Amino acid sequence: MRKRSKFFIMSLTLFVILAGCSNTDSSEKDTSEDKLQVITTYSILYDIVKNVGGDKIELHSLAPIGSNPHEYETLPLDVQKTTDADIVFYNGLNLEAGNSWFEKLLSTAGKSGDSAPVYKMSEGVEPMFLTTEGKEGEEDPHAWLDIQNGIKYTENARDALIEVDPEHKEEYEKNAKEYLEQLEALHQEAIEQYSKIPKEKRIFVTSEGAFKYFSKAYDFEAAYIWEINQENQGTPAQITQVVDKINDQQIQGLFLETSIDARSMETVARETGMAIKGKVFTDSIGKPGEDGDTYIKMMKWNIDTILKGLTD
Ligand SMILES: [Zn+2]
Repeated sequence: MRKRSKFFIMSLTLFVILAGCSNTDSSEKDTSEDKLQVITTYSILYDIVKNVGGDKIELHSLAPIGSNPHEYETLPLDVQKTTDADIVFYNGLNLEAGNSWFEKLLSTAGKSGDSAPVYKMSEGVEPMFLTTEGKEGEEDPHAWLDIQNGIKYTENARDALIEVDPEHKEEYEKNAKEYLEQLEALHQEAIEQYSKIPKEKRIFVTSEGAFKYFSKAYDFEAAYIWEINQENQGTPAQITQVVDKINDQQIQGLFLETSIDARSMETVARETGMAIKGKVFTDSIGKPGEDGDTYIKMMKWNIDTILKGLTD
């Protein structure tokens, strides 16, 4: 009997210790550690996913706001966060391709392979292709500048979050529905506003040729100094080519992207005597509190700036 009661006391003690441990676990439930850990490759995806995930997710974006997501040098913190992530979102369509930075990161973080929760935001977008000699057949990544594709990105983010975290399905669906309504309204506004620009004036130049999907959706023609940000930028030959184009054609304005060095465009402006009509957002949203600091605000900014620039 003595033996049995000693065993009972030991069991009881063990039970109390275990119960204590599990109590500690549940008291940590409310910290950010418990939220779904989500990675996006750059700021535009960050903002879209933030709108869908709301307070159920903890987000980290790799390429910082204002930087070029085509090429990015990852930091030790990025590797750590990507290793710990429950889900990773990237654009695809040849965006995160410079120096294979994203592929390398996934491999280092143990996130490559079929079982890894890595989602392509542009899934379902009909790709457009580069035309520069030697690059034909490579996809153009800038699908998000057509708001209809922003809508696809949002639906993809919603479906992926539900797949990985079905417990919060209702929240993700509700958030996505509200956000999709705003994007739908913005797309209609874009069509309406751009229709105020006469057809012959709908032709402009930016540094990078980021406006292919945009031009197709809203019926513009967009020329550029270089086609994609992985190239050597603004070489004398590229500048001469665009200056000739401006002199030959009825280009109506130059616009400078916020995430790109101004010098090449300034040279083009100087050599053609054509004014830079304003800044536009392409590869990044604006810094928090500044112009265009969400996907919706940057697209709205572009609508207003392009309309004003081409009708003044
Ligand atoms: Zn770009």
